[in-house]
Amino acid sequence: MTERLYLIDSEQFICTATVTACVPCDKGYAVELDRSVFFPEKGGQPCDKGSLGTATVTDCQEVNDQIVHYCDKQLKVGKVVEVVIDQQRRMDIMRQHTGEHLISFFAWDTFKAFNVGFHCAMDYATLDLDKPLSKDDVERLENLTNDYALRNVPVTAAIFDSEDELRDIKLRKHTEGLTAPIRVVTIEGADVCTCCAPHVRHTGEIGLIKIVGAIAYKGGMRLTFLCGGRALRYLQGLQNELEELALMYSTSFELLPAAIRKQGEELSRSNKELKQATARLDEHLADKLRHEAAVVRGIQLIVTDVGNVEARRLRPLAQGTLEGKSLSVIFAPWGEQVNYIAACKGVDMDMNECIKAVNAALNGKGGGRGDMAQGSAKLTCDLSDTIEQLRHYFERLLG
Ligand SMILES: [Zn+2]
Repeated sequence: MTERLYLIDSEQFICTATVTACVPCDKGYAVELDRSVFFPEKGGQPCDKGSLGTATVTDCQEVNDQIVHYCDKQLKVGKVVEVVIDQQRRMDIMRQHTGEHLISFFAWDTFKAFNVGFHCAMDYATLDLDKPLSKDDVERLENLTNDYALRNVPVTAAIFDSEDELRDIKLRKHTEGLTAPIRVVTIEGADVCTCCAPHVRHTGEIGLIKIVGAIAYKGGMRLTFLCGGRALRYLQGLQNELEELALMYSTSFELLPAAIRKQGEELSRSNKELKQATARLDEHLADKLRHEAAVVRGIQLIVTDVGNVEARRLRPLAQGTLEGKSLSVIFAPWGEQVNYIAACKGVDMDMNECIKAVNAALNGKGGGRGDMAQGSAKLTCDLSDTIEQLRHYFERLLG
């Protein structure tokens, strides 16, 4: 069994060790040592990375109580190598993990919410609670956790040789199925739980603890959090984005919410005015189309292109053109497509059939009801020629 030095000193980043096995595998070479500072991936926590002599360790797993280091180079069994882990990576992961202990402790101690899951990725970490917390409670949890971390109390680990020795200790979490010796990690005055991972030596090393997400999850809540440098970089990113936004609004970022609210109000007013102006414009346009309309056998016929008009305006516009016995087929190019509508009044025609004829001419799609149907097509041909052909078609239909 590999001697696990991370269990004794979590901030030992280098050691020497003897290679006890090295076999080729799909990840390169699986190397075992008599002792190692490497923490293998387990308990929702990523493994250490680093090197064994000149070989790079890309992955580290626990297999049958052995720590297996996956390397890019073959190492001779019996050789003594320098074992080095990526210190920054280890410290970053330990900050997240120890931060998780503190958040879990206060969630349990203050809100009776129990930690039922933990996952630490390389850019965020999550923990799952078995009951939901309010927004205010999440903020209170964040404050309690940070206040305690600032006390910079020791984080220690102790090994217990039997379950009996644990009887008088109030554990937050006792992992099921553990057999002695059992490792218990204690954050002085706060969290006490069984755990086999490395932690920072003092809570001050965790740095800032920022809960950046709280969503309902499996009847409880999933908290996303960042500790130390991750929290700092997150806040720096937010500040940069806010400053950029503030610059766009020509204000300071403290005044940004007020500036955005004001812009929203102005936009809402403008939209209302635009809607009213468009409705008036469409009334005039409908008047003009009616005046220019042809009359075929006593039926007013409009088959025309009205230019850039949004699809949502076509229905009221078409309705506005209907007067007496009438048929209106209106086309409106919009970007790379053309929208069209067919509407009638006082004539025995099915607009679904009319729109089918237009669909066929323009290779478009659409439908509707008996007195009004709409469609659209990709604008690929000369629209004026097609409209001219369709005008003749509808004239013949009425004639
Ligand atoms: Zn732990």
